[in-house]
Amino acid sequence: LYLKALEMYGFKSFADKIRLEFNPGITAIVGPNGSGKSNIADAVRWVLGEQSAKVLRGSKMEDVIFAGSDRRKPLGIAEVSITIDNSSGFLPVDYSEVTITRRVFRSGESEYYLNKTNCRLKDINELLMDTGIGKEGYSIIGQGKIEEILSVKSEDRRHIFEEVAGIVKYKSRKEEAEKKLEDTKQNIIRINDIIEELQ
Ligand code: ATP
Repeated sequence: LYLKALEMYGFKSFADKIRLEFNPGITAIVGPNGSGKSNIADAVRWVLGEQSAKVLRGSKMEDVIFAGSDRRKPLGIAEVSITIDNSSGFLPVDYSEVTITRRVFRSGESEYYLNKTNCRLKDINELLMDTGIGKEGYSIIGQGKIEEILSVKSEDRRHIFEEVAGIVKYKSRKEEAEKKLEDTKQNIIRINDIIEELQ
């Protein structure tokens, strides 16, 4: 499972459509200050459903759309697609490649697609839950994040490791099951009371 390609159009400084292809192993992106290296990481965060403009280093969501330059007019739409290699079948879908697309218009509407089929953000979140890829999956470590991880309380740090290890799903299911069990216990007590009253 690895990030195979990133395509974008109208996202931040990338007014023209570009396609970056990645291979397994290490890829380094180099370039002068302000050339758009961090914008590439922002694009990956954004397509995975990031809702916070601040995390994307802007003040409102519209800031991800190309705002124009001396020579070019602003655009009205931004679109980013990432293609994840799934030949190992790690993601629970019958496709060897999964392409996630997000599109936003200046009006603020966002659209999401899974392999070109319109879907909800929830579908993408469910597909990526506990895979380590989602926006909470710590697959993208921004500047300053390592320091933050080291300085948080030990319980919070434990939560981070649990998320990375993919056990949060089981913990939340366990909590749900425990709650149901407790509700059922209370119901039994109530029923026994009623039976006693009737006898
Ligand atoms: P550094 O090495 O300094 O961290 P970088 O290569 O990571 O730089 P980025 O921060 O990715 O660079 O890119 C910043 C550039 O993107 C700035 O020139 C900024 O004007 C441009 N930019 C950001 N948002 C938009 C937008 N919506 N429209 C046009 N350009 C944008």
